[in-house]
Amino acid sequence: MTAVISPAEQLALPAQTVERLTKRAAAGGAAAVAVHAPATGVKIGDLPQSSVADIEQAFATAREAQRDWAARPIAERAAVFKRFHDILLDEQADILDILQTETGKSRPHAFDEVGDVAVNSRYYAKVAAGLLDPHKRNGVLPILTQTTEVRRPKGVVAVISPWNYPLALSASDALPALIAGNAVISRPDNQTALTALWANEVAERAGLPAGVWQVVLGRGREIGGEVIARADYVDYTGSTATGRTIAAQAATRLIGCSLELGGKNPMLVLDDADIDKAADGGIRACFSSAGQLCESMERIYVHTDVYDEFVQKFVALVDEMKLGANLAFDSDMGSLTFQRQLDSVSAHVDDAVAKGATVLTGGKARPDLGPYFYEPTVLADVTDAMAVYRDETFGPVVSIYRVASDEEAIAQANDTAYGLNASVWTRDTKRGRKIAEQLRSGAVNINEGFIAAWGSIDAPSGGLGDSGTGRRHGADGILKYTDSQTIAVQHLLPIAPLPGMSDEVWAKTMTLAFRGMKLLGLK
Ligand code: NAD
Repeated sequence: MTAVISPAEQLALPAQTVERLTKRAAAGGAAAVAVHAPATGVKIGDLPQSSVADIEQAFATAREAQRDWAARPIAERAAVFKRFHDILLDEQADILDILQTETGKSRPHAFDEVGDVAVNSRYYAKVAAGLLDPHKRNGVLPILTQTTEVRRPKGVVAVISPWNYPLALSASDALPALIAGNAVISRPDNQTALTALWANEVAERAGLPAGVWQVVLGRGREIGGEVIARADYVDYTGSTATGRTIAAQAATRLIGCSLELGGKNPMLVLDDADIDKAADGGIRACFSSAGQLCESMERIYVHTDVYDEFVQKFVALVDEMKLGANLAFDSDMGSLTFQRQLDSVSAHVDDAVAKGATVLTGGKARPDLGPYFYEPTVLADVTDAMAVYRDETFGPVVSIYRVASDEEAIAQANDTAYGLNASVWTRDTKRGRKIAEQLRSGAVNINEGFIAAWGSIDAPSGGLGDSGTGRRHGADGILKYTDSQTIAVQHLLPIAPLPGMSDEVWAKTMTLAFRGMKLLGLK
């Protein structure tokens, strides 16, 4: 693996940028915390934190601002995010620098996030009216009952997002909520708060009124409950363990929540796969953002007939990867983001090795590159006695297993409590689709790792089982931020016996009416 090392000064953001962005936060009432660039360890700045009073004020402002915002025509709200899209693309260099500095990821992986937000902003700006405008529904009595389904914004939506894809998971989840007429209070992770604040600033420059989208800052464990206590809906992305806590808090308040949680995603390489493409796709599937990606592949099941060829080609490509976090498109994988990520990745690999796993490549930290760099790692001979077999690693570690049949691959792939993403490689897409139907997974990518399904944002994305209950993208991704309201207008006759008509005659009349409507195909 070649090293492309970032000079420390490259990854230090200008103090004015940090100051300008931190000023935007609804924060300052609690003691600030220092944040450091993971790739170098250099301090980025001090991040103000929100007190309970700051959070209270943010919600009060949001409720006020939301009324006017929701009263605007959908087209006007959508137009803000068409402009947002253009500014994002024009000024991408700024956010790429911030994203890389805060996460330690490589520039190509940072760009994936810009692409995600660009696609989401155009998509929801274009489809929102079609999904949110009132829809006529069949009334109880044809012609006489005119029924309309109306979509009302929830009110103030809380978006609690993690640090691994901080632009995509703060902005792309907030955009549909805003276009639907909600106000949003975002609680990004402290490590990646500047990214969320940058998106928030761009939204206001694109025309979003002040107060409609605000950012509060603080540790999730400390302020998460305060945010949920005041929200009308919660959109949460993070670990399954925290997701359960959030679900319980939302349940107590009887508010809805969308939970996007962890994964232990399987990739299946069938005996007819194009092995060059599978090996190349495996690099993207396993090592994007150093594997700190919920959709990342952590298990590869390879048919025995192509096992040796796949392993040889895949490992050769891993060995060619360039490690670094330069502010240029010249490294293939960056750093992990925290010491605790480095600890958990190292613990999984060390435990596996101690119990007999073989390291095909990688397997060690690279403190010579930066405090949290870890090599892309491929393991074989992994057994269910090892933590890496079943637990999410959330790092650049993948285990390869030899299987004798499709049935064995499917059974092993499904041997998990998670169900977020899966990938199947085959030249026969019909066969791939049949296998997809048997995989317990919210998404299945055929001949791609994750981006085919994830990027198809006209279709919903979300997990099964321990991977959560939420859906983003598609109609689900915006309708979840609304409540339906049914408005029915009754004309001419009441739905009740006419004056002087007995209940028995009414029942007979209605029975005739039901039969008539059936004959006419009206019901
Ligand atoms: P985590 O649950 O520890 O933290 C995630 C975020 O939640 C952090 O910002 C944290 O501050 C916050 N948080 C923690 N406790 C909270 C509480 N009680 N109330 C409110 N917020 C709280 O998870 P992590 O390990 O930091 O993040 C990685 C996890 O996120 C992985 O499991 C990964 O698969 C998952 N993830 C899922 C998706 C998805 O779309 N399904 C996307 C990205 C990450």
